[in-house]
Amino acid sequence: MTNIDQDILKAAELIKKANKIVALTGAGISVESGIPDFRGPSGLWKKYNPEIASISFFLKNPEEFWKFSLEVWKTLKRAKPNPAHKALVELEKMGKLHCIITQNIDGLHQKAGSKKVLEIHGSANWLICTSCRARHPSETVIKQLKSGMTIPICDLCGGLLRPEAVLFGDMLPQDVFSEAVSEASSCDLMLIVGSSLVVFPAAQLPSVAKKNGAKIVLINLEKTWFDEKADVVIHGKAGSILPKIVKNVKKTH
Ligand code: NAD
Repeated sequence: MTNIDQDILKAAELIKKANKIVALTGAGISVESGIPDFRGPSGLWKKYNPEIASISFFLKNPEEFWKFSLEVWKTLKRAKPNPAHKALVELEKMGKLHCIITQNIDGLHQKAGSKKVLEIHGSANWLICTSCRARHPSETVIKQLKSGMTIPICDLCGGLLRPEAVLFGDMLPQDVFSEAVSEASSCDLMLIVGSSLVVFPAAQLPSVAKKNGAKIVLINLEKTWFDEKADVVIHGKAGSILPKIVKNVKKTH
């Protein structure tokens, strides 16, 4: 049995014993669905300067911002859930997973069938007018940009449209984040999947869980600063590791 196989069994044992499991997911869980992450081996920051996803860049260069966003959105809209998203749905159906806190804006957990998902960085499905605050479905902007406009505009007031999703430099939606903190502090196992854990305040949630006595299972392709604090760390692809863990949980569930 390889070390990874042993760790998969250990993770399954912890999951079986746990009463309230909360998953914290990041961009890495959607890489196998064809959506690049930011900091992984083929991440977006190998091609772009991270500043492009900030509120200050949007306000200075909306045209360039929207060129980048349109490219990202086309990828998001095409993407389908992968075996890692589906494994979390199974855990929820088995009554083992209480909720998912996700940093992702791609909606793939919901597309896969997960019921309770806290999107702490918002969703790519909506845009908001920077003048009148009206919400518009993201299809509006895609239509406008594809028809040759370079910056999407609110059809109610002519104001500039921005993604409702959180940009660097934005505040997080406070009600959703407070709920995430409350779930993290009351779980007895946190399952972290596909996050470099460098974007704060999301990256403080594992410490909140740990401080309140939760076990930590961490699955990520590369090392993170939190590895040494976790009870089980598995470096590998979420799409192959998570289904194996769930299969082992099912065996004696
Ligand atoms: P990140 O890019 O900082 O880290 C992703 C991590 O996932 C990396 O450490 C990488 O090693 C790991 N990884 C890559 N492929 C993996 C795989 N197949 N299986 C397991 N792990 C894998 O992402 P983050 O920590 O989520 O934080 C960055 C921000 O990126 C978040 O705020 C999020 O909103 C945003 N983001 C979201 C999406 C999305 O919605 N899919 C995509 C890109 C970025």
